[in-house]
Amino acid sequence: MKAYDRLFIGGDWVTPAGTGTIDVINPTTEEVAGRVPDATEADVDKAVAAAREAFDRGPWPRMTPTERAAVLTTVSQAIQADMQGLAELITTEMGSPVAWGSMAQVFAPTMILDYYAGLASTFAFDEVRQGLLGEVLVSKEPVGVVAAISPWNVPLFIAAAKLAPALVSGCTVVFKPAPETPLDAFRLAEIFADAGLPKGVLSVVPAGREVGEHLVRHPGVDKVSFTGSTAAGKKIGSACGELLKRFSLELGGKSAAVLLDDVDLSQALPMLLPNAIMNNGEACIAQTRILAPRDRYQEVVDALVESVSAMKVGDPLDPSVEVGPLVAERQRDRVEGYIKVGQEEGAKVAVGGGRPAGISKGWFVEPTVFVDVDNSMRIAQEEIFGPVLAVIPYDGGDEQAVDIANDSAYGLCGSVWTNDPDRGLKVARGVRTGTYMLNSPIPIDFATPFGGYKESGIGREFGREGLELFLEQKSISLPAGYTPSL
Ligand code: NAD
Repeated sequence: MKAYDRLFIGGDWVTPAGTGTIDVINPTTEEVAGRVPDATEADVDKAVAAAREAFDRGPWPRMTPTERAAVLTTVSQAIQADMQGLAELITTEMGSPVAWGSMAQVFAPTMILDYYAGLASTFAFDEVRQGLLGEVLVSKEPVGVVAAISPWNVPLFIAAAKLAPALVSGCTVVFKPAPETPLDAFRLAEIFADAGLPKGVLSVVPAGREVGEHLVRHPGVDKVSFTGSTAAGKKIGSACGELLKRFSLELGGKSAAVLLDDVDLSQALPMLLPNAIMNNGEACIAQTRILAPRDRYQEVVDALVESVSAMKVGDPLDPSVEVGPLVAERQRDRVEGYIKVGQEEGAKVAVGGGRPAGISKGWFVEPTVFVDVDNSMRIAQEEIFGPVLAVIPYDGGDEQAVDIANDSAYGLCGSVWTNDPDRGLKVARGVRTGTYMLNSPIPIDFATPFGGYKESGIGREFGREGLELFLEQKSISLPAGYTPSL
């Protein structure tokens, strides 16, 4: 068992203010896999004070972006050197299948760190612009002290999505990981400390939502970068609006995969299915609504049932396993609750629907496919966050498919599958989501913006846009004849 009795505050491992602890429960064995201090408001106050001091007076914001980028590169290399160890740690915390996890949970964060390290030397932080009345230096400056708050489903990935652009911008960060996954966050803190990050620049304070709210409302915090549920995002957005704090929100999703009537299922399904039931279905971008033309509906259902039945469920540390347990008992209760709701609403379970046979421990749910689903049903409208798919028929051609895809409070991701990319592009343009896949298995490219329309969020992470989330813009009018050295 991995146990910590100190918190990483301002670059030092310090005794926490309180005595509470968080037990990390392995969702496969239901046993305690780790223990960390439960940070209190007093710990957050200390972390914000350290971040404030480091931002207002410390070296970090005054270094060049490329100097800061060097730290990110060192961190990326250290993560790459321990890919398997970190993947197993995250699997132990939250149940992600390790084969998927080593790529998405560990290697992807290094791609994000490397991308922002590279952007440091090409991004125009300063630009002298010819204005209407003279020359103006337009300078992009770090926004200040950042509160970064993350969920448990892809913990290191989201830490990288926030820390890499925030740090390369010159911000200082108080990072609150979800209480389910503090161990990889502490490991990351160790890696940053070893990489020579100056004191005060990063703190890691695992805690629940009350302490999270304290961090959000803290007067020393300039910007809140939040990833999590839409319900929490609304509260955080309201608090930030009231205080006029900068904020960005990456929230939930209920994405639709649109199969057009000319689709070649043998090509599309092997790309679609891993995006539908990725990470045990605990993925914001999961394609959980499958829209199929009525005259090919049964063929789609049969193919999906065959593929989903063949998915290997079991110990997520086994590299051949495709579906592991859900993060917590309450998450299994939630998913089972939705399976019941779907049946009560009149949808039929075509495969799955229960707990896998032969597994006596762990919070497993069988990968499940619902058929005869109407898009108005709760199982088609609400984010289940488990391995549960809803196959929805449509009659009226591509336009009706787009209407159904758009009949959702969410707008995070989506996909279209067709033999005709022009037709697919038209569908892609019609669906109101922040990212989209046209016959492509890739939901996120880190060099391009990612985020949500509607209740899926505000702002875009990744790409140049993800850096700009952590920058303020300042215009300095220059005297005639003066050229600043940049
Ligand atoms: P959650 O909203 O319950 O918690 C997320 C984090 O916010 C945790 O650290 C939690 O302690 C904290 N928190 C909760 N309420 C808070 C508040 N009022 N103030 C401050 N902090 C608060 O979400 P979860 O169950 O951990 O994660 C699952 C959700 O995250 C899903 O809805 C999923 O779609 C979403 N998600 C979105 C993205 C994205 O990029 N859009 C990525 C991953 C997960």
